[in-house]
Amino acid sequence: MKAVCYYGTEDVRVERVPDPAILNPRDAIVKVTATAICGSDLHIYGGYIPTMEKGDVLGHEFMGEVVEVGRDNHALNVGDRVVVPFTISCGRCYYCKQQLWSLCDNSNPNAWMAEKLYGFSASGLFGYSHMYGGYPGGQAEYARVPFADVGPLKVPRALSDEQVLFLSDIFPTGYMAAENCEIKPGDTVAVWGCGPVGQFAIRSAYLLGAERVIAIDRFPERLSLASVHGRADVLNYADVDVVEALRDLTGGQGPDSCIDAVGLESHGTTLDAWYDRAKTKMYLATDRPHALRQAISCGRKGGIVSIPGVYGGWLDKFPLGAAFAKGLTLKMGQTHMHKYMPQLLARIERGDIDPSFIVTHRVALDDAPQMYRTFREKQDACIKVVMKPGQPGDGR
Ligand SMILES: [Zn+2]
Ligand SMILES: [Zn+2]
Repeated sequence: MKAVCYYGTEDVRVERVPDPAILNPRDAIVKVTATAICGSDLHIYGGYIPTMEKGDVLGHEFMGEVVEVGRDNHALNVGDRVVVPFTISCGRCYYCKQQLWSLCDNSNPNAWMAEKLYGFSASGLFGYSHMYGGYPGGQAEYARVPFADVGPLKVPRALSDEQVLFLSDIFPTGYMAAENCEIKPGDTVAVWGCGPVGQFAIRSAYLLGAERVIAIDRFPERLSLASVHGRADVLNYADVDVVEALRDLTGGQGPDSCIDAVGLESHGTTLDAWYDRAKTKMYLATDRPHALRQAISCGRKGGIVSIPGVYGGWLDKFPLGAAFAKGLTLKMGQTHMHKYMPQLLARIERGDIDPSFIVTHRVALDDAPQMYRTFREKQDACIKVVMKPGQPGDGR
């Protein structure tokens, strides 16, 4: 089959690889009909994620049709149309039973690698390094789904691929980020980063009752989507002092909660952002946490900072003193996908939201190398790329 493979920093190729096969009785094989490139794939593309190997199949946002089912999988049938969550969960361990799905104890066969870095390992992830299990991803014609009697969500035919595909990651991720803010009526929520997760965090904050959402980015097309489609007040950090502007917009008090939907490759115009850039260039730091510092400094006293953005290592100049002094609550982590997918599918069916608003580029799998570049450079007003394996352009 054809698959999008990692070959090194900024080197992604479409290659022929062996078709996946059932390895465990609870597996299923899915023929991929739609798959997306995620902002967190760009962390791999940029060389920030350790334990990637040449030839690894990328992609953790995908959906399709079940074409083969393991003998102990009684939840799925051949022909089912499913969306697959990016986290892999067994459904039986302590964490799965607590609905802490992304912390599953049984789905990462390489847990020892993550344990060295983090003490304990979280769940396995599709297409996201050997430290997270070395599972081939879904930017391919077919994918093996482990624990497929627990993960994949059946979706109705009445909804298009683009309406349900983002249940695989970014919609639940934006939603959990907003839910973590414990929004009360009258609340103001500030969102750093108007990429796909930021856009879904904005929409979700309103779905959960926020009075006002203020969104921060520097790309006009993202700010415009946040403003027109998301009804957010927007701040372009290239033009305004974010700290001052947020103060002015909230009567001097600061937002009730702050969402960092940027993560470890933050840009910025302030001194600390330049410092991060210099230190990571010289391999003296792992992450560039400028957005997170700003969120901690802007949030109101006693407020919440919610972090859906991915961080990887040991953060430099992390203002824990400010967080402590202001009594902030910090919430973070990979999304507990299985908890959110059914309720968010119900919201899509009810018409509360149509997630396809985020798609700016629709291409074939063969276009992946070019689209990774375009997405990374934010060229061509690119916000979200959907690839359709088997569509024209795939050389079949
Ligand atoms: Zn993703
Ligand atoms: Zn589990």
